[in-house]
Amino acid sequence: MSRDIPDNLVRRAGFPASVSRAVTTPLQPSVVYASPDPDTLDAQYEGRAQGYTYSREGHPNASVLAQKIDALEGAEVGLITSTGMSAVAATMLGLLSKGDHIIGGNQLYGRSLRMLTQELPRYGINHTLVDPTDASAVAAAITPETKLILVEVVSNPTLRVADMEGISALAKDRGLILAVDNTFTTPRAYRPFDHGADVVIHSITKLLAGHSDAMLGYVAARDPAHRKALEDTIVTLGLSGSPYDAWMAERGLMSFHLRYDRAEENAELLAEHLVGLGAQVLYPGRPDHPDHNRAGALLGPRFGNMVSFTIEGGREAANRLTRAMPEMAFAPTLGDIGTTVSHAASSSHRGLTPEGRAALGITEGFFRVSVGVEDIELLKSEFSKGFAAL
Ligand SMILES: *Cc1c(COP(=O)(O)O)cnc(C)c1O
Repeated sequence: MSRDIPDNLVRRAGFPASVSRAVTTPLQPSVVYASPDPDTLDAQYEGRAQGYTYSREGHPNASVLAQKIDALEGAEVGLITSTGMSAVAATMLGLLSKGDHIIGGNQLYGRSLRMLTQELPRYGINHTLVDPTDASAVAAAITPETKLILVEVVSNPTLRVADMEGISALAKDRGLILAVDNTFTTPRAYRPFDHGADVVIHSITKLLAGHSDAMLGYVAARDPAHRKALEDTIVTLGLSGSPYDAWMAERGLMSFHLRYDRAEENAELLAEHLVGLGAQVLYPGRPDHPDHNRAGALLGPRFGNMVSFTIEGGREAANRLTRAMPEMAFAPTLGDIGTTVSHAASSSHRGLTPEGRAALGITEGFFRVSVGVEDIELLKSEFSKGFAAL
């Protein structure tokens, strides 16, 4: 009987031979990898041979992306996770156990705060939130159970600059793990491993990938035992990232330094323009910023692409502003190639009471701008239009 299905139909043959090569990194969506025999598979699992097995445990697009971020951060072997939050989760669940205590910055990214205050307590992991601009407040929060400090260098959305030197010295002195979420600052402004951090976390989704079309995270540890714990947690809890997102993020990352430099240049000029329009402006590069001196010492002259400002007139004025500048996407994110404007009271900080927000300096007139790479004249004219509508 003749076969009714061609032999090669179900077999994946790979691409035809070519004497020329593709200039891009291939996208490899394969979930599984075939090894020649059980001995080879043993060698792969035992690390005697390099090879992929199952993509939750690793895949080429994640490796390529991780190596590029490793080089930027001065990390040895970073791990790619499905989101920035899964990188934060891997750090918490991989490095902490029931009964441990964590100290977190009181202005961490909203979901990180929620993880510390709502999720981890269910697993018996307790926390104290402190003002990270004050290392003595961090010192005062240490208990015998304290194991880890989680901080962001520049806070969201008020752009306060943490006392990284003080906190790092404290962590070293007291034998605590210092985990730094470097999403806002990026390795272009600050490399936490060069300043005593033990763990570096990124939401690649933001500035590193930069185009709002891929969602991924990154986590790297200095200590090989921490790295092993993070990897086991990521693979076991299923926190790994997809090949497609890694492939997209690698493409975005290739222009990261160009985008960052341009956006930072724009941010400084836009901050100046906003002052001229009468807004109360927060930008670490300006002498009137409360942490300007520390920002200069820690990051200078890299003051970043984030500018926050306050207008008078409450929610009504806030609505008028965003409606009058349609070219500036009003969207709760940051780090896109284009400028985005966000409003903490209706997005990231909507869970707080008005009093809770006021304590952080966040009113209905508070905006945060993630400045993009547009022509500065477009940025100036859009914001001028927005302010004219007030
Ligand atoms: C966005 C963000 C995260 C979370 O990243 P996702 O990729 O959205 O999960 C964590 N930390 C900071 C500072 C962020 O800005």
